[in-house]
Amino acid sequence: MAEPSTGHNLLHGLRLIDGGLASELEHLGARIDGPLWSAHVLEDQPELVVAVHRAYIEAGSECIATCSYQVSRMGYAEFGLPAERADAALLRSVELARSAAAEFPGHRVLVAASLGPYGAALHNGAEYHGNYDIAFADLVAFHRERIAVLAATPPALAPDLFAFETLPSMEEAKAIAEAIAPWPHLSAWFSFTCSDGRHVAHGEPLADVAAFVAALPQTVAIGVNCVPPRWVPSLIAELRSASDKPILVYPNSGEGWDAANRAWVGSTDPSDFGPLAREWFAAGAQIVGGCCRTRPAHIRDVSQSPVP
Ligand SMILES: [Zn+2]
Repeated sequence: MAEPSTGHNLLHGLRLIDGGLASELEHLGARIDGPLWSAHVLEDQPELVVAVHRAYIEAGSECIATCSYQVSRMGYAEFGLPAERADAALLRSVELARSAAAEFPGHRVLVAASLGPYGAALHNGAEYHGNYDIAFADLVAFHRERIAVLAATPPALAPDLFAFETLPSMEEAKAIAEAIAPWPHLSAWFSFTCSDGRHVAHGEPLADVAAFVAALPQTVAIGVNCVPPRWVPSLIAELRSASDKPILVYPNSGEGWDAANRAWVGSTDPSDFGPLAREWFAAGAQIVGGCCRTRPAHIRDVSQSPVP
């Protein structure tokens, strides 16, 4: 890690992360409909990844997440691709984020390595219920091999922290805790996706899962992402009850996914996001950002909202 000795102060003063990556890549013309969309873009159109990072930094993001949410050796192996190519994609995603941040020498921009749950590598939406057909030891191994690649990177090329995100269950939180245990000096945030205003997607109380990860030596923040904005105030209350760790929230835009028609329905006005974020800050969130369907305009609206 770039700053192993300052892990728990890493997020001091940070209040704004980035927004959705996939939808913005699509907006810039990237093909993201394949199961290895992030890999295709990382390898074939890296300039688009840098452009999205740049747009978020210009909008006010103080931390950007890498284009690696779905990158895994298992996912690559399904398409006959070697493990080394998955590992290279992970490192490339950090390199691209670093190069975007370097365009803003006067700004402190942290790079968070986005590591999605096992369900994200299955490409079947399993992260939204967390019922995996996998042994616990294999779940640990899935996470450890990605952590190991990034942990072995020289500091200048390493992420500042890991973003374990869209986590659905206590089981997956425990698997990551075991996977990362050999590296107590690393920094990580743990962010969960939820089924309502109180429970993670698999059904456990968010407060219980948050209390578990808050006790890990690597944890610098706990939070929720990929949830509707309307659940966020309740989820913040649950997170506050669990620990005194910094709280981060990066919900979706407010549109809903209509699975039957395979389309997003409803709409969101980015100018609603700033007022919502003010409520979340007031409720106890330290760090705000956006997940699916949020764009730089959403982040800019939060950036330009007065600090509560
Ligand atoms: Zn999302």
